[in-house]
Amino acid sequence: MIPATSFSGKRVALFGLGGSGIATARALVAGGAEVLAWDDNPDSVAKAAGEGIPTGDLRQADWPGFASFVLSPGVPLTHPKPHWSVELARGAGVEIIGDIELFGRERSLAAPDAPFIAITGTNGKSTTTALAAHILKSAGRDTQMGGNIGRAVMTLDPPEDDRYYVVECSSYQIDLAPSISPTAGILLNLTPDHLDRHGTMQHYAAIKERLVAGSETAIIGVDDIHCVQIADRLERAGKKVVRISKRLPLTDGYFADGSNLMEAVNGRYTRIGFLEGIGSLRGQHNAQNALAAIAACLTAGLDLGEIQSGLESFPGLAHRMEQVGRKGRVLFVNDSKATNADAAAPALSSFPRIYWIAGGLPKEGGIEPLRSCFPRIAKAYLIGEAAPAFSATLGEAVPYEISGTLAAAVEHAARDAALDPADEAVVLLSPACASFDQFKNFEIRGEAFRQAVNAIGGVMPIGGPKP
Ligand code: ADP
Repeated sequence: MIPATSFSGKRVALFGLGGSGIATARALVAGGAEVLAWDDNPDSVAKAAGEGIPTGDLRQADWPGFASFVLSPGVPLTHPKPHWSVELARGAGVEIIGDIELFGRERSLAAPDAPFIAITGTNGKSTTTALAAHILKSAGRDTQMGGNIGRAVMTLDPPEDDRYYVVECSSYQIDLAPSISPTAGILLNLTPDHLDRHGTMQHYAAIKERLVAGSETAIIGVDDIHCVQIADRLERAGKKVVRISKRLPLTDGYFADGSNLMEAVNGRYTRIGFLEGIGSLRGQHNAQNALAAIAACLTAGLDLGEIQSGLESFPGLAHRMEQVGRKGRVLFVNDSKATNADAAAPALSSFPRIYWIAGGLPKEGGIEPLRSCFPRIAKAYLIGEAAPAFSATLGEAVPYEISGTLAAAVEHAARDAALDPADEAVVLLSPACASFDQFKNFEIRGEAFRQAVNAIGGVMPIGGPKP
């Protein structure tokens, strides 16, 4: 745990007592702050009180006496409308911050030279965070990973000069981290998302920009217009910007040329690594993630040999294009995290010959946005409530069956894929749907897929359960 010593002796209000809220409250108490914590859910308040965290209704509190207000990132700061606790803090002129800000202040105080890589973007945050942490760890660096992935940031080990921090930041967390200043900040990409919580695309992009604007080195994926504008703006302001592209040769920066990873310096290219044969990093989207992780690890002082060997041993994250088994030329891939069409698109674009298991609780728009991937689909196996709507969209374009259950879909897809003459046929669970009609969550759906695959005679399992 990182005691929040910069708050020693100060009165701090805290709202939101979920997992990360309780961890933050503990860090504040351990650092010597006088905390008053609250939540709209009485069970959460009781749980925190049971752990010795001082609790009290913040509606009745003496707000002008608080030095800071620490808010959980899940609680609305601006949209759709500020939470009542935010209104009270603003009314009293109390600063509103979150756990990443606490971490940043602690690092500045205790070990300002501790390398700090912060990662944001609309998609690929967790993969890039896990990959950068894995490369650093495999190169023998003392590495701490957390934030919006795995452990809450204040539960990591305390900052020391030779300790490396790799922290995934959601836009909500950046919004609550006014002085965020990582050594390397990564902004992967920007597409409209969570606009219910951020109002407009401009507001959403402006929040993400803050992370790279505060970094010593800003690593920016320049494959969308919002990120290009941010990179240009920061460069004009004199910031050190490293551009990465998953598809375009750049004059300066890092880009992917097929599975080769290239460095461009003043228009001259050098190969610095490759993704060929790395099962956990297939697909163009993963080239973007890999380039960002590489750029960050280079700023952290690693050499190219260390980086390539980290790329090659990366196990990948569970439920995101996760290779779970192979039987002959058939590969089984679990992409259960793809709960809508946009999220399923990268997997469907990454394999040439697909036996596609899709369906569940449908989202608005269905699978129409995936039409350009239809030629890659040898056959679709439809499950759950979405089956009738999906079959209507597939129509004559793709052969399909209504399998009903995941178990039946896996069995039928495996049987058909085994007869496919292609060099590699992929049985892909990438449902483009939520799971709740048949499973408790996407993780349980993915595990059910893995088990059904491993129950097929002759399948060689790949890897094991991952975080
Ligand atoms: P996040 O943490 O931002 O939600 P993840 O790394 O968990 O992202 O990946 C979730 C899904 O997003 C993946 O299964 C994949 O479909 C897609 N994805 C991953 N990286 C990228 C990227 N760089 N660009 C676009 N989509 C991506």
